[in-house]
Amino acid sequence: MPNQFLIPNSKFLILMGPPGAGKGTQAAKLVKKFSIPQISTGDMFRAAVKSGTELGKQAKACMDAGKLVPDEVTIGIVRERLAEDDCKNGFILDGFPRTVEQADALNKILDEQGKKLTCVLNIHVPSEELIARAVGRRICKKCGATYHVKFHPTKVAGVCDECGGELYQRADDNETTMKNRLDVYEASTRPLIDYYKHAGIYSEIDGRQAIAKVTEALENVLTSVKE
Ligand code: ADP
Ligand code: ADP
Ligand code: ZN
Repeated sequence: MPNQFLIPNSKFLILMGPPGAGKGTQAAKLVKKFSIPQISTGDMFRAAVKSGTELGKQAKACMDAGKLVPDEVTIGIVRERLAEDDCKNGFILDGFPRTVEQADALNKILDEQGKKLTCVLNIHVPSEELIARAVGRRICKKCGATYHVKFHPTKVAGVCDECGGELYQRADDNETTMKNRLDVYEASTRPLIDYYKHAGIYSEIDGRQAIAKVTEALENVLTSVKE
């Protein structure tokens, strides 16, 4: 049954997947297609680190170690963000929830706001490919566009195709930290697959395909899903 408060065609989405699976890359495409905001907890933490806030200091220590930021901190920032006006008709959560506690909290937040998850899209990529994806990832300092030195290179090395901005590499995109992030994914985040399968809103997409093919697969799921 559709929720009576929901606007038709609203899309409340979770984009799930291990680190480096392509969540950010695909979220950017869905933002354009459906005109709903991307809510990336990783981006929010990186912004806090850059501006040197108390939250940033706390987050930086966790991120550098490849560990999760504590649930209560993460849930707090998501709660505030989802209450903002631009989330009324939908959103794409990218990198949240990452624990069962976060998923439970999200259910509560959405209940309070009269919203209902439309679907959970899990981008599946085998772990042996993920380290190469993360280590080669490059991000535009100016507009946040994501590239890869081999798999999605810019036309001019080090320069963003979209805006001409300079590219940088995330501090946590090294092999050692990435191994920790993958361990954390297995222990804390993978259980969410069963969690959302039980809720009947789970779909899996093969993330090994080319970027455009993954986008197509995601859009196919989204056009077939009933609200
Ligand atoms: P990835 O590319 O690995 O998916 P993100 O940009 O989503 O990375 O996250 C980077 C880091 O930010 C994580 O390793 C973690 O330290 C922190 N973080 C992001 N989202 C969460 C979350 N939902 N819960 C706890 N920590 C998070
Ligand atoms: P996540 O947000 O899940 O951590 P990203 O979207 O940042 O992942 O992608 C991780 C890296 O892999 C980036 O360098 C990106 O350009 C690259 N990438 C994304 N999707 C694909 C794909 N389908 N095939 C090859 N490389 C990809
Ligand atoms: Zn750019």
